[in-house]
Amino acid sequence: MITRLSTLFLRTLRDDPADAELPSHRLLVRAGYIRRIAPGVYSWLPLGLRVLREVERVVREEMDAIGAQEISLPALLPREPYEKTNRWTEYGPGLFRLRDRKGNDYLLGPTHEELFALTVQGELNSYKDFPVTLYQVQTKYRDEERPRAGILRGREFIMKDSYSFDLDEDGLVASYALHRGAYQRMFDRLGVRYVIVSAMSGAMGGSASEEFLAESPNGEDTFVRCLESGYAANVEAVTTPAAAPRPIDGLPPARVCDTPDTPTIDALVDWANSAGLGRAVTAADTLKTVLVKTKLPAGEWQLLGVGLPGDREVDIKRLAAAMEPAEVVLLTESDFARNPFLIKGYVGPKVLRDNGIKYLADPRVGIGTAWITGADEAGKHVVDAVCGRDFTPDGTVDAAEVRDGDPSPDGAGVLVSARGIEIGHIFQLGRKYTDAFSVDVLGADGKKVRPTMGSYGVGVSRLVAVIAEQCHDERGLRWPAEVAPADVHLVIAGKDEAARAGAEQLAADLDAAGVRVLLDDRKASPGVKFADAELIGVPVVCIVGRGWKNGLVEVRDRFTGSGGEVPVAEAMDLLSRRGS
Ligand code: ATP
Ligand code: MG
Repeated sequence: MITRLSTLFLRTLRDDPADAELPSHRLLVRAGYIRRIAPGVYSWLPLGLRVLREVERVVREEMDAIGAQEISLPALLPREPYEKTNRWTEYGPGLFRLRDRKGNDYLLGPTHEELFALTVQGELNSYKDFPVTLYQVQTKYRDEERPRAGILRGREFIMKDSYSFDLDEDGLVASYALHRGAYQRMFDRLGVRYVIVSAMSGAMGGSASEEFLAESPNGEDTFVRCLESGYAANVEAVTTPAAAPRPIDGLPPARVCDTPDTPTIDALVDWANSAGLGRAVTAADTLKTVLVKTKLPAGEWQLLGVGLPGDREVDIKRLAAAMEPAEVVLLTESDFARNPFLIKGYVGPKVLRDNGIKYLADPRVGIGTAWITGADEAGKHVVDAVCGRDFTPDGTVDAAEVRDGDPSPDGAGVLVSARGIEIGHIFQLGRKYTDAFSVDVLGADGKKVRPTMGSYGVGVSRLVAVIAEQCHDERGLRWPAEVAPADVHLVIAGKDEAARAGAEQLAADLDAAGVRVLLDDRKASPGVKFADAELIGVPVVCIVGRGWKNGLVEVRDRFTGSGGEVPVAEAMDLLSRRGS
């Protein structure tokens, strides 16, 4: 195929769009790939649509290769199925809701678990039909609070979502493994640098959910990794190794000390270092109590004390993940007022136990560790409070912030944090949705069996932005060959008629060899054409210009910047290998 820039529906922009912060956003707009319609809502112009279609092709090929079957469900969906799973409400303001002329409620699908469960229920009724995996590449709608970076976080976007249906756990694990492999091949082919992070802590089922994060300093997701072992996890999923129990015998007894005006850890540490304790004290030697309240979906609010070393903050996202499905919020002033035994700044484990409040401690608070902690009276702390002797937590909780340099849970080294953009998510869902709709089929033994589901997403339109984010330089985009909008960008430089005719011939020959050619046959100056070629980012640029009369053309690799003049025949040979 030959695409002529003289007629292509394309206008490149010299200036960055005012609202673009990330390079991918700037370049995709400037190079004429996408145009903004509304916040988080974008149009695809010809070159952008081509890249999007290439990404979709790779995604489909890898899904088909694991035996997944493509179907397509509507984006406009009735309320009832989502009402049944409670997601009509649970999704909150993220859901686009609308009403038809008869007053019926509809939504624009943010993800389709409900509809796939119902679709399978409608079509299949015997164990012989399983396992089955269905997928779609489809437009999704989410009223994101902060749409971002053009198509990176859109309110309308394209997702590949697939759903596996198996009759038992082993089947689900196998379907999950197939998806994991397909995603690896997909992202490898797309040339994305990524890591797979566990999205859930071991306590909740190990690898039951993993995210694929494209590495990018501009990512919104923070993850930690261990460079020695390759361990990588979401911060929420990191587990802190539990402290081994230490002997308690011989430890000095606990004693309550006057610590006037020490409601903060800093003030307490200052006091401890001037109190003649015979040792240097740091914040890590203090045990602070953070108070929250939690509520199970059908339950009442309950107070919870979280004990952790004074040099760490509670990471509320980690605490929330650890307490799921309970909701967690910090205590307010009025909560303190209602529980006057909680003396702010001086709360310790004892008052919690005396008042029947659950107390969970950081795993570093092991048996035999000694702490300076609150004595539950203004201006007083307990020194040498020993865990397992003077107080005993009701359990441990991983709620402290994770820091660079913390030990890796696999014991192999230390953790460092990095940022990423979520490009895929695989999840062993279980029977939540088949339960909701009582999806049952006939088992081999004649009894009913309820399928178990996996759900798997890929951000197809987001990937276009992610690849642009990872593959660009200050002059423009640099597409990997697999997704590029053309194979060769052929520039006619200069007014030499012979060169122009030669370039046309070269384009025709390349086309015949199956190479997709973007031919710059415009009447613009060579400078403008070179700048556009670099901006547009086709992997190879071939310039037909001054050298033509000597039988030479210039071939340049957009990625490495390397290249030079070569004889036309050699160029033809070189470039035709770019075709498919
Ligand atoms: P995020 O944490 O980035 O909001 P998510 O966890 O809500 O994503 P999933 O429900 O797991 O997303 O959706 C599957 C995939 O769809 C994600 O891995 C991501 O690549 C993509 N995706 C999700 N939301 C958007 C969006 N607003 N715009 C573009 N792609 C998105
Ligand atoms: Mg996700």
